[in-house]
Formats: sequence, C-alpha cells, structure tokens
Amino acid sequence: MNNLIYLDNAATTKLHTAVLDEMLPYFSENFSNPAGIYASARKSKAAIEKARAQVAAVIGATPNEIYFTSGGSESDNWAIKGVADALKTKGNHIITTKIEHHAILHTCEYLEKCGYEVTYLNVDENGVVKLDELKAAIRPTTVLISVMFANNEIGTIQPIAEIGRIAKEHGVLFHTDAVQAFGHVPMNVEDMNIDLLSASAHKFHGPKGVGFLYIRKGVKIQTYLHGGAQERGRRGSTHNVPGIIGMGKAAELAVENLVENSHKMSKLRDYLMAQIQTKIPFAKLNGHPVKRLPNNVNFCFRFIEGESLLIMLDSVGICASSGSACTSGSLDPSHVLLAIGLPHEIAHGSLRLTLSEETTKEELDYVIEKLSAIVERLRSMSPLYEDFVKEN
Ligand SMILES: *Cc1c(COP(=O)(O)O)cnc(C)c1O
Repeated sequence: MNNLIYLDNAATTKLHTAVLDEMLPYFSENFSNPAGIYASARKSKAAIEKARAQVAAVIGATPNEIYFTSGGSESDNWAIKGVADALKTKGNHIITTKIEHHAILHTCEYLEKCGYEVTYLNVDENGVVKLDELKAAIRPTTVLISVMFANNEIGTIQPIAEIGRIAKEHGVLFHTDAVQAFGHVPMNVEDMNIDLLSASAHKFHGPKGVGFLYIRKGVKIQTYLHGGAQERGRRGSTHNVPGIIGMGKAAELAVENLVENSHKMSKLRDYLMAQIQTKIPFAKLNGHPVKRLPNNVNFCFRFIEGESLLIMLDSVGICASSGSACTSGSLDPSHVLLAIGLPHEIAHGSLRLTLSEETTKEELDYVIEKLSAIVERLRSMSPLYEDFVKEN
C-alpha cells in the first residue's frame, strides 16, 4: 500500500504521467509562441488546436466554441460578468443557486454591488435544485441562469438537461460550472441545451492553471481579458502552450476511460458509504444517495469538529477534506451544508472523501478502520455525546 492515501481529488488530482509526457517537449525544444509565423510556432499552434478539438469532443461542441482560460475560476468569472455586461440593455437579473462554488457566488455578489439583481435558488435536502422555484424565478429581465453540473462538496448532480430545457423555453442563456463533472460524468451541450460551460484541467488529471470556457456560437459575451488577438480576440494573453496540450491529453484519456473508471469508482464509493454507515453510529450522509459524482463521499459525524478529524486523519497518512471552510481559518460552516438544511453545529463536523481511479479497496479498508477509531476517540472526549447516548 502507498504510505499516503490521497482522498482529496475534488480539491485537485494527480497529473497523469501520459499527460506530463505530452507537455514536456513544449517547455523545452518546442517553446515557440504559437502566434509566430515560423515552422516551430506552427507546430505549437497545431498542438493547441489539437487540444481544442480533444476538449470539444468531450462535450459535443465544435472546436471554435472552446476558449482557453487559466482555469475554472476565470471561466466562471468570464461567463457571468461577460454575459451580464453584454446583455445589460436586455436586463439585469441573474439566477443561480445557494450551493455554487465561490467563483460563482462571489462574482454574483460583486455584480449585485454593480446594480445587478441575483436570485439564489434553494436546494432540497439532497442538494438538488427545485425546478418549480427556478421557473418561478425567471423574469423578463433575466439574462442568465447559472447552475453547477455537480457540487464540489457533496457531489450532487443537478438535472442539467431539464434546466437547459427551461432556460431555452424562456429564451434565457444557461451556464454550467462543470468543473467537478467534466471528464467524470457524460455531458453534451446540444442535448442539454448548455450555452456556456466551465471546466478546469487539474480536476481531471491535467495541469493546474489551465481550463476553458465553452461559448455556444452566437452567444453575446464581453471580452474578458483585453489584449492580443488570441482566442479569436476574446481573450488576450500568450497561450499557456504546455498547459493547454496537457489539458487536451487529459480530456482524451478521461473520456476514453470514463465508463470503466466511473463504474469502478462508484462501486468503491458505495462500499465506503455503506461501511461508514454500518461501522460508525450517528453518521449522516450528505448529498444525493445515487445522483452523485462517482467519486464523492461526504458525511457529518455529530459531536465532532471537522478540523480535529482532518488533523487526526493526516497523522495516519490520510489526505481528506472538510466541507467546511474551517480549514481556511474561518469559523463559518459550509454554505452548501447550511443550504441542505443542516444546523450549524452539525455542519461543522463534515468529512469529504473523494476517490480517484487509483483508489483501492485495501486503502478504503484502512481508512474505515482508522476513521471509526478516531471518531470514537473524539466522541469519548465530548460530554455532549455522553449525554446524547444516554438519552437515545
Ligand atoms: C475547483 C473548482 C473551481 C475552481 O477551479 P480552478 O481551476 O481551481 O480555478 C470552480 N468550480 C468548481 C465546482 C470547482 O470544483
């Protein structure tokens, strides 16, 4: 067994060795700027165009609808601000959800300060957007609906095709933050009526600092980065050639193995969920029991601080994360766990374990053994837990 068990794949994934191999020549012998007119520049240009096609194929787009960016956060910022700005004569209303990534939520909050109006939709106890509420929220001034494909904390997958249909019926643009889902869950921008889609390479075994925004042909959007003529004049800046090439390769590998990997991971995910539920008392699963990412497990353990749990897991070689922002020094519980209706004291004790295709059953057995011992130990120090057990 590896001495480090990495179960934080929602935060970032390990670069695939085949991806690194594709990237390396573009740091050294092939360092040319693809904007040049000489042979080696044309080689760089051809390589990034190949990557554009590889990425487009995953979502059923055409390559000229793919715009390379620096990652998920930039793509989200561009989609929201770019559409809001381009359509400001049509309206100033945006619809999103309470469980989005901060790249969406903080962008929307910024736009509110600039005079835009934003509706933050509620979700049910499994984290699924309520479609009736969505329909009721649409106004004549609504210019954009932005709903994430799958949630990064609790793994819930949204009814994207239904949302796309509703958006289309009302003539409103539809953006989805697919950063967690791209390469892990099948998706098609035509079937799902998606107008804009964000993804990030480091969430599917590609390099960090590179991603893309899909913009459907004909969609009006403001230029995000003013500068050179790169990306058809819509996003200036010299291309991150090795990064883009790595992303293309990672996308190709992800689709090639999508069915097999997702089958393998969801079996292990279900095993881990079932083991936690049988071995650890008062463990509450967060997120939808089946409509969830194949690699996501998220639990709350009552009477336990998420942070103490993470520190103790780390001391036995397990890399995990808490849904809560506690780890970043803030005491606020996760906005996602609050949105699914958990009270503050429970939302503090959450644990997110996210698998990769390299995760093994042996590793999970070790995790279950350590986790149940740690939970028991932490609870034994809690007078509240003692009282609770007596009463129940
Ligand atoms: C990781 C993540 C982002 C941010 O992507 P970066 O490439 O790290 O900027 C945005 N949305 C979701 C859902 C994510 O999981």
